[in-house]
Amino acid sequence: MPNIGYATDAADQPLAPRTFERPAVGPRDVQIEIAYCGICHSDVHQCRDEWGGDLATNYPCMPGHEIAGTVTAVGDQVTRHAVGDRVGVGCFIWSCRECDACKEGLEQYCESDQGVTFTYNAPDPDTGEVTFGGYSDGIVVDERFVLAIPDAFTLEEAAPLLCAGITTYSPLKYWKAGPGKRVGVAGIGGLGHIAIQIAKGLGAEVVALTRTEEKAGDAKELGADDVLLMSDDGAVEGAAESLDLVLSTIPTAFDVEPYLGLLRRDGTFASVGCLEPLGEGSVNMATLSLGRRKIAGSLVGGLPETQEMLDFCAELGIKPQIKVISADEINDAFDQVNDAAVRYRFVIDADTIRAKAPAA
Ligand code: ZN
Ligand code: ZN
Repeated sequence: MPNIGYATDAADQPLAPRTFERPAVGPRDVQIEIAYCGICHSDVHQCRDEWGGDLATNYPCMPGHEIAGTVTAVGDQVTRHAVGDRVGVGCFIWSCRECDACKEGLEQYCESDQGVTFTYNAPDPDTGEVTFGGYSDGIVVDERFVLAIPDAFTLEEAAPLLCAGITTYSPLKYWKAGPGKRVGVAGIGGLGHIAIQIAKGLGAEVVALTRTEEKAGDAKELGADDVLLMSDDGAVEGAAESLDLVLSTIPTAFDVEPYLGLLRRDGTFASVGCLEPLGEGSVNMATLSLGRRKIAGSLVGGLPETQEMLDFCAELGIKPQIKVISADEINDAFDQVNDAAVRYRFVIDADTIRAKAPAA
């Protein structure tokens, strides 16, 4: 039986049902029946080819890297997962596992010629064909790139953590968000609403940074100690040099300068949402030099840290706020993600994708 998924053929085309074939289950592979897949802002960027360069889109593009489901078959050398296990797949499905980055558990920065293989829109290391992601009925993945989902989560709750959770957890840990640290979370969306909870869970004092007044209440409910309205110049000035770390989840180019001014000496502005040039004149190097401040980036997180994040969130009761949608609603959901109108993560019910399979 062929697989079924949702893909787009061009930047200006909607996603539509498409049949295709997943590879056979190899000795180290796990076959997963997908139950849910989150909609990440990256999916919208990629389908609409909004990045270009190294991240240009290969069509057809079948997105989805917040995958949760159940194991339905395993290869004969598989030891980590068994049929019936609840599992997840995040942003990548292969890396060399031999380079320094891979050995450190930082597979996302794999230094091999092939580099890390993203879950969708990347050449498959075995076949060379472009990978298809989780907007589909099932997927076959090397067991080492499959995460165990803790019992504390339903599968639909777990799905967004596979990208939004680890993308924020990893930099918060790396830049030592914790007791005694004041951390700003910029952008209260799919990533930001989880980042607030994780930063708080790590023990930091959390300030939500938003331009949207209506999100202030949400941020407080999610655990933020304070909300700074970035559209209020006076408030921004009053908050100068008050943060040790700003984690930015803002997904498009923006003026970074006001955020840099919020940093204390030696503070770091870390971006995880934006994968494009910030634009000329957006950063005054003096702002960095005068406080030994840093601008940094971070990409998702490695496999050991992703499992650690899942277990951490399970233990602390950290969950995304989700809205489950059907396959027919994907294109409308893309528009809402683009307009930052979602509160806070759409999750596709994969049964509604399965229902689109042509009758045999
Ligand atoms: Zn993502
Ligand atoms: Zn590697």
